[in-house]
Amino acid sequence: MNWLSKDKQYIWHPFTPQKESPWPVFIEKARGSWLYDDRGNRYLDAISSWWVNIHGHSHPYIAEKIYQQALTLEHIIFAGFTHRPAIELAERLLPLLPGKFSKIFYSDNGSTSTEVALKMALQYWWNLSPADNRGNGKAVRNKILAFNNSYHGDTFGAMSVSDRSVFTMAFHDLLFEVIFIDTPTAENIDSLIRTIRDNGDQLAAFIYEPLVQGAGGMKMYDAVLMNELLQAAQQQEIICIADEVMTGFGRTGRLFASEYISLKPDIICLSKGLTGGTMPLGVTACTDRIYQAYVTEDKRKTFFHGHSFTANPLACTAALASLDLMEMENTMQRVREISAANQEFARTLQNSFPGNQIAAARSLGTILAFEISQGENVYLNQVGLEVMTKSMDRNVYLRPLGNTVYFMPPYCISDDEYDKLSSVTLDILKSR
Ligand SMILES: *Cc1c(COP(=O)(O)O)cnc(C)c1O
Repeated sequence: MNWLSKDKQYIWHPFTPQKESPWPVFIEKARGSWLYDDRGNRYLDAISSWWVNIHGHSHPYIAEKIYQQALTLEHIIFAGFTHRPAIELAERLLPLLPGKFSKIFYSDNGSTSTEVALKMALQYWWNLSPADNRGNGKAVRNKILAFNNSYHGDTFGAMSVSDRSVFTMAFHDLLFEVIFIDTPTAENIDSLIRTIRDNGDQLAAFIYEPLVQGAGGMKMYDAVLMNELLQAAQQQEIICIADEVMTGFGRTGRLFASEYISLKPDIICLSKGLTGGTMPLGVTACTDRIYQAYVTEDKRKTFFHGHSFTANPLACTAALASLDLMEMENTMQRVREISAANQEFARTLQNSFPGNQIAAARSLGTILAFEISQGENVYLNQVGLEVMTKSMDRNVYLRPLGNTVYFMPPYCISDDEYDKLSSVTLDILKSR
């Protein structure tokens, strides 16, 4: 039996309808920006393998570091024990983060990093509550504020603060209540600020994807207006949680998207690009204000959260190697070049399709996106599948979100490779 029939027999793939989905592509190896299948085809990985890869695939520097670490210490329980990669990574990350963070909490992926952030913020208010209230599990504040169209992950807390969409539909009556607001515009900003003020004394935390809503369709919003929202939230002492799982590590043109916004978060969530896209790892960093609520003799105020693989030494080592490469390969310079190429291609798209065939060509840093004006603006729009199939026939891997086509390439993409990506995209659009 060949590999694909065995896959069909044994495996259930994520985010994949189990009827009428194309067969998966069997990838044998990957190097730099390219994926190689078992039939001699190669594909330019224009979405960084679900937004994680930043230095290119199978990077020998990261591989070597992981190998050496695996021969030294592959894993150790992280309660009561510690190790060098975890300490070094925390020490190196903290000064890079946008804001005054004092502690790093490790977990395994993006969803756990937001789940940890939410629990950390909610328990902060519980820890500060009068003793009688704590007995009933009642905190002085227990509501979360989030954006419509947001995505923070697939576990239950993360789903609860995400947009109510086709992703969460089966669980709606089990998700906790959240106050949702739109992302800010010049028109709605006053009413959003009013909502924050009116609910301020109940709101424990505000979670947001800074400047780009990723899975919601690469929707971008304004940094100055976001700053006004953060100001309103911080005046009410609401804990601000920046979910930079997707935007972190250069994606938006700066190391973190929060750098574009004057006011900084109290908690930040990182994953995807953290290890250069090699190993699963999540980070939730918090300020001293949050941390101090847990520094007490009352053992019940402990943060009772952890995962078997918390701070896995191999993953921490990969993250350290990725940070090394950011410097050694002058990665942020390449990020700026890709950002410029994206801006130019967004203009090309606008000029090439003056009618309404495509809409809202936009870019921020290494992310470029636009909508194909056909059918509904939803994830299940089948235009995406058509674009994916056509692009793969031309050796480019695009994976649109419904009718939203986007580029999110690894930063190692060369000028020639970028040209191929943009010309294949134009050809596909013109031939429709
Ligand atoms: C992908 C993503 C997550 C979830 O991360 P996983 O590692 O897939 O669990 C959370 N937040 C944002 C903004 C993301 O893009």
